[in-house]
Amino acid sequence: MSKNIVVAIDGYSSCGKSTLAKALAKKLHFIYVDSGAMYRAVTLYFLRNKVDINNPEQVAEALKNIHLNFHSRDYQTHITLNDEEVSDEIRLMPVSQNVSPVSAIREVRKEMVAQQQRMGKSKNIVMDGRDIGTAVFPHAQVKLFMTADPHVRAQRRYKELQATNSDVTLEEIFENLAHRDYSDTTRKESPLMRAEDAIILDNTNITPEEQLAFALAKVEPFLKK
Ligand code: C5P
Repeated sequence: MSKNIVVAIDGYSSCGKSTLAKALAKKLHFIYVDSGAMYRAVTLYFLRNKVDINNPEQVAEALKNIHLNFHSRDYQTHITLNDEEVSDEIRLMPVSQNVSPVSAIREVRKEMVAQQQRMGKSKNIVMDGRDIGTAVFPHAQVKLFMTADPHVRAQRRYKELQATNSDVTLEEIFENLAHRDYSDTTRKESPLMRAEDAIILDNTNITPEEQLAFALAKVEPFLKK
């Protein structure tokens, strides 16, 4: 059997990584994995159980008790945390405001990366995140690094969140994105950065259809091998 294909999509917060990753996976019949959802679910567990992120023993104990699972339905992310569906709750502000410090913890990353690597071992997969092309799958056949104007990103997120949490303001979202970008790019453990061989995709002024066509063209040569 030929080797499985891995498409790694990294980039800043809310620049459409998951929109592209889902569309690509659907078109190619690949598995889609939203790695951010995993860090978000861990954060939700830490918040609910008041885990002190500065206490390594508490963190290690919590990680032992966290069981995550993806259930793919129509290429939407459905994630369970210890058998409870948490897909909506992990998108709300309490998690968004706490996820960056949690994802900066070395032990948390070690555990998540190991799980992600298992998922991409033998199947064709599209995974989006911050360190997929650099740390999780450094040998991925296709690596994309996505970016977009921060104001455009905040607007898009605002529209999405209005459906679930109408209290949140555009200003709060903008601040949260700026804060997460800063923490994600400056942290010690696997900071967000472009892999040398990643292709930059700035989608400020292009449509989802155009970005899908761009990405498909990058993957297609590998389908024929
Ligand atoms: O992709 P999303 O915005 O849902 O990710 C939430 C947070 O999870 C990011 O801001 C980042 O702190 C963390 N993350 C990460 N590594 C990944 C995916 C997400 O550190 N591969």
